[in-house]
Amino acid sequence: MKDFSRTASSELPTHFGHFRLVHYNSADLEGVALVRGTPSGDGVLCRIHSECMTGEVFGSLRCDCRPQLELAQERLSREDEGVIVYLRQEGRGIGLGNKIRAYALQDQGRDTVQANIELGFAADERNYELAAAILRDLGITSVRLMTNNPEKLKGLSEAGIKVDEQVPHWAGASSHSEAYLETKRRRMGHITESPIKAGNATTSEEDKAS
Ligand SMILES: [Zn+2]
Repeated sequence: MKDFSRTASSELPTHFGHFRLVHYNSADLEGVALVRGTPSGDGVLCRIHSECMTGEVFGSLRCDCRPQLELAQERLSREDEGVIVYLRQEGRGIGLGNKIRAYALQDQGRDTVQANIELGFAADERNYELAAAILRDLGITSVRLMTNNPEKLKGLSEAGIKVDEQVPHWAGASSHSEAYLETKRRRMGHITESPIKAGNATTSEEDKAS
């Protein structure tokens, strides 16, 4: 990708153990890699995570971003090697202001997909070019991706990183986020936990790819 650079790195002790933090910039997106050990080559345990100020900083119950991020850190803390790529593409890539506008529409009864479309955006505007560039820079060629999102798998594959395995990534729902998670399942193809999953044996291409 163009205008992509590694700009800084340091050690980062956390509640979840010791990581190394590496900062990257591209023309239109900033990101970091939170690196456990020295992962390289094939089959690296990986989470691609997009920024969510409302969930991660303020503990919003409208989504499951913070529990998903914490679960990824917990999982990596039990491994010798792995990486979380954190991308500053807030609100599925529409930015913080538009995300709050979308929340206001949801307060009036739209679901998360309807709200984005009403604001003139796709349901999901994220892109994974920078994530793939970061993984390549770290010497990682394929990943075991912690996600329930088929679009993320597709995006990463299209950006040139092979996904060896989809690792289901359930962080649980609050009473506030149940409707949101249901929309992710119904409108965006996310794989969900039983009983829904039990009724749809995971044999389709799409299920395998999520
Ligand atoms: Zn969120």
